[in-house]
Amino acid sequence: MMNVVPTTNQLRAARPLRLAVLGSTGSIGASTLDVVARHPERFEVVGLTAHSRVDVLLKQCLLFRPRVAVLPTEARAQALRSALAEHSVRTEVQVGPQALCDLAGSPDVDSVMAAIVGAAGLPPCLAAARAGKRLLLANKEALVVGADLFMQAVKDGGATLLPIDSEHSAIFQCLPEDRSRWAERIDHIILTASGGPFRQRDPASFHAITPAQAVAHPNWVMGQKISVDSATMMNKALEVIEARWLFDLAPEQIRVVLHPQSIIHSMVVCRDASVLAQLGTPDMKVPIAYGLSFPDRVESGAQRLDFLKLQALTFEPPDPARFPGLQLAYDALAAPSGSTAVLNAANEEAVAAFLSGRISFPDIHRVNADTVESFVSRLGPARLLDDVLDIDIRARAQARQRIEELAA
Ligand code: NAD
Ligand code: MG
Repeated sequence: MMNVVPTTNQLRAARPLRLAVLGSTGSIGASTLDVVARHPERFEVVGLTAHSRVDVLLKQCLLFRPRVAVLPTEARAQALRSALAEHSVRTEVQVGPQALCDLAGSPDVDSVMAAIVGAAGLPPCLAAARAGKRLLLANKEALVVGADLFMQAVKDGGATLLPIDSEHSAIFQCLPEDRSRWAERIDHIILTASGGPFRQRDPASFHAITPAQAVAHPNWVMGQKISVDSATMMNKALEVIEARWLFDLAPEQIRVVLHPQSIIHSMVVCRDASVLAQLGTPDMKVPIAYGLSFPDRVESGAQRLDFLKLQALTFEPPDPARFPGLQLAYDALAAPSGSTAVLNAANEEAVAAFLSGRISFPDIHRVNADTVESFVSRLGPARLLDDVLDIDIRARAQARQRIEELAA
């Protein structure tokens, strides 16, 4: 039986929880450190990692004094080492993807916040899962890419998988602690979606959408990639796939409703027609604090919801013509395993190409749909990390070829 929900006693540690934050310089990483800083007696930061922003990582190291920091290149690591030496900070700076995995699986770490963006986060997530860590999963792409492998690693390692995505945290908060009771309770779940910045924009003008417009989310402040995903609703597509695995649901048990105010973060519709929902202001510090302190609750720093100031909570169906990407999730879940990895790889490439001005906003969907379609018939089994990484590499190559054609 997978140890997704441990007992309260297992989690109430006498000493501070030793935490590694993978992707600490990003939006989720920064919010995590914000929550952690409110509870120095509960959490000890032992590892921080970044990709490019050495200056931000330096500030975080000065504040939290982790034992280890990880950067992708020797040049960046050297820059950080020199700056740390000036401040007499003894953080050990390590380099490269293996160092990320070593940190995630280190015996000095109890809990790993997986807040890297994209498939690059899969290997350290697997390392944390196999080492039986308490794994706080923001990095949805890692699960979408390596689902079978990921869930097997959680099971084999006896890891505790805690969802950080606000929708999945909401569902998790609506379910009993005893995971064996989930299936009997759930009729279906409803993931809410804001609809992003283009919920009401005329689709005839979608070709003119600029990267700056696409990343300007009405309710949430997030990294660039997830902001574009929210605008296309590919974020919700990834979340449907994420929910399928986190809660062991059939795809038809996962529904999506637009809820532009982002106050209800998702809902469980029970067998008896009762509906359980989790509400709050749209602030990722809430699911992060819950993941960090589960099964307790600690101050998150988020604003309280003022019901008297809420105008209305409204709901509408997602328009498939406006958001064609959502259906790709259901198609990929019905296709051979590995299809979701193809979809994710195509989307990562397409979003990067859109952000760098090479393809238009509607082209993102063209790249995603065409790449998945061209792959479905030639997918082999994806049982090992190497199989998954191979699919990821080949799907990216195919997507880039499609991007070339569209950019020409
Ligand atoms: P971000 O772009 O703000 O931060 C990404 C972090 O990952 C940075 O620290 C960066 O240095 C690191 N990183 C990027 N590429 C890397 C690579 N190749 N190798 C190692 N590290 C790398 O992104 P974010 O908004 O914080 O999102 C992080 C993850 O959390 C994503 O998977 C996203 O879907 C998920 N998530 C984010 C939010 C949110 O509100 N921001 C909400 C739900 C889920
Ligand atoms: Mg979400």
